[in-house]
Amino acid sequence: MRSNIRIVSPAGRAALQYVQRRNFSSSLRCNAQWGFIGLGQMGYNMARNLQAKLPSSDTLRVYDINQESLNRFVDETKALSKGAAVQLASSVREAAEDSETTITVLPEPSHVKKVFGELLKPVLSTQRVANPDRLFIDCSTIDPASSREVASAVHSTNQGSFVDGPMSGGVVGATAGTLTFMVGAPDSLFPRVESILLMMGKKSLHCGAQGAGLSGKLANNYLLAINNIATAEAMNLGIKWGLDPKVLGNLINISTGKCWPSEVNNPVKGVVPASPANRDYSGGFGIGLMKKDLKLAIQAAGEAGARLELGDRAREVYESAEKREDCKGRDFSVVYRYLGGKE
Ligand code: NAD
Repeated sequence: MRSNIRIVSPAGRAALQYVQRRNFSSSLRCNAQWGFIGLGQMGYNMARNLQAKLPSSDTLRVYDINQESLNRFVDETKALSKGAAVQLASSVREAAEDSETTITVLPEPSHVKKVFGELLKPVLSTQRVANPDRLFIDCSTIDPASSREVASAVHSTNQGSFVDGPMSGGVVGATAGTLTFMVGAPDSLFPRVESILLMMGKKSLHCGAQGAGLSGKLANNYLLAINNIATAEAMNLGIKWGLDPKVLGNLINISTGKCWPSEVNNPVKGVVPASPANRDYSGGFGIGLMKKDLKLAIQAAGEAGARLELGDRAREVYESAEKREDCKGRDFSVVYRYLGGKE
């Protein structure tokens, strides 16, 4: 069994020469180096899947400001005999400089801008990775304008290609490798991007040019934010009128009100056995993330001149709910509790 952990020290770095120059015309190559920045709830599990699916001739260089996540990643991968070798980087630059592909999974626009600010100045070396071959895939959910700003910083300084690939499927999908990715990339790059993303997910949708993946993701999550509140209100209303929760849930789910929050993530305990409502709203999609995505969608709608009637009100609901101790940090269907629903 080989240990697949290598610490990248300045001395060790000099030894990290490529055995051979790769042929970049194919989407996946031998002896490739990969960078992964952001080992949080999503990124950690995505990096685990990527590491496991890459050939042992490849290396995966990981970085996070949270040393605990990095140490855990080391502990969990050091005994593995399969998959890419793991290297720990000591900075975002070290994770990306020699990597043909670098994946970022960061919380908010400010984090993505900060990381790329550190990455791109001074200009990345072209000694080991030629500019046209260097690819950045940002899987963070941020607003399309910020994403385009970062893409422009990469492209205008000729340091590679930057595409957006936000995802849906949550921590469960990230762990199981079943995520769906929404990609904003030029046609010519999509096959390479897709072949990479499918090592961490099951589906990828090409939405259009750079930024389009995020537009699609935010439009979807805007609808989800509204549907979730409406479902909680409708369930609360029916139950207050005396309807049995299960009867009402079943009725909605064979009628025109059916939606993901009613059918899969129903906010009332006992209606859908696997929903977070059955475990005190733990796990699932955190109310804080919903609030963040809604804020980004409202901001992007303003920039596009798209009128939203319900956005601000929905945002107030999530903001007030998140302030309550019995709702904070829980799945976003906890809005039902915030409304005073019977539990
Ligand atoms: P998270 O907060 O758990 O993880 C983010 C990670 O980024 C953390 O480990 C943090 O230490 C690291 N980080 C922050 N700044 C950094 C920096 N400067 N350099 C290196 N690392 C840095 O977030 P998450 O839940 O993994 O979500 C990541 C992204 O995916 C978000 O944009 C989120 O909206 C999106 N997303 C999350 C879910 C979900 O269910 N959690 C689902 C779909 C999409």
